[in-house]
Amino acid sequence: MYKKKDKKPDDAGSRLTSLAELGEFGLIDRLTKNVSHFHPETLKGIGDDAAVIDAGEKVILLSTDLLVEGIHFDLTYMPFRHLGYKAAVVNISDIAAMNGIPTQMTVSLAVSSKFSAEALDELYAGILMACNQYKVDLVGGDTSSNVKGLMISVSIIGVANKEDVVYRNGARSGDLLCVTGDLGSAYVGLLILEREKSVFQVDPNMQPELSGFDYQIGRQLRPEARTDIRNLLLGTGIRPTSMIDISDGLASEILHICKQSGVGCKLFEAKIPIDEHTRELAKEYKIIPSVAALSGGEDYELLFTVKQDDYEKIKDVAGITIIGHMTAPSEGKYMITPDGKSIPITAQGWDGMRGK
Ligand code: ADP
Ligand code: MG
Repeated sequence: MYKKKDKKPDDAGSRLTSLAELGEFGLIDRLTKNVSHFHPETLKGIGDDAAVIDAGEKVILLSTDLLVEGIHFDLTYMPFRHLGYKAAVVNISDIAAMNGIPTQMTVSLAVSSKFSAEALDELYAGILMACNQYKVDLVGGDTSSNVKGLMISVSIIGVANKEDVVYRNGARSGDLLCVTGDLGSAYVGLLILEREKSVFQVDPNMQPELSGFDYQIGRQLRPEARTDIRNLLLGTGIRPTSMIDISDGLASEILHICKQSGVGCKLFEAKIPIDEHTRELAKEYKIIPSVAALSGGEDYELLFTVKQDDYEKIKDVAGITIIGHMTAPSEGKYMITPDGKSIPITAQGWDGMRGK
């Protein structure tokens, strides 16, 4: 019988690496390990929410996101107008995460013949609603047919003063870890939509039961980008030391800041802001509410750090919660439970490469 340990050492080289074992971030690291820059204007390349390009007095921020039918959205419950809005918003959020102002976007579509022009009109109505809401100019794109399904790729440009840009790598030991808004509702919204979809699949005569879950479903289907935080923080005189948007879940984003900044962290579970109704609903789904916040993702809130000296300035700002602090890297990355246990923070965020 074949035994793994009988393999000759050089067999390892002939084995192909599956994407599942690399994971999304492992794959990005592998594909981009030989990247080098030719232009001194490229201030920041891969590794943050957006690239940063020197443009004289200002910097240009550039980011792109791809949404794939069946992976990132399900047209059974995602209206085209909402999909368009969300595709724009997830990009705008990446500019907000750099403390920048979104200015222009391009939209590229790969679309199969199963879609009608009217459906795509709706998609664009949603995109243009977001452009209007966030004052972003749609300046181009590309359109292609597709064998199956729909893919939407949005690229976005933003602008900022060089000294105002906030990177993922600026957190220092002792900094306070803060989050905007509340977390976990988008994931609970997804669970509700998935439940109603399965009911509908069993009996197409059943009408979806979505009333009373407006907040959770709204968070999932029609997220907003926190472009308002830049001004809010300016008003308090605080400049974050690091920042990232929460697309994959709190745990994954905390780990990105820790890795890029070379620090550890202590997150207090009891401090994670979660909507009361979302908390109850999570329990109904047999999910620990903090797990929805840590691993659910798609809340598009901002996670950032500020200097400890800014505590007095930030502690009473409405809509911002201090959830922990950064530590020396040797202290590790832990969540402290209400009963004082330390649990290592692990990323279980959306990882499109695993099991999908
Ligand atoms: P976000 O969640 O903010 O959109 P990602 O986690 O998708 O960021 O990406 C992390 C970093 O890796 C970003 O700087 C992004 O531009 C870069 N990146 C992702 N995929 C690729 C790719 N295929 N080639 C080059 N860079 C990539
Ligand atoms: Mg991001």
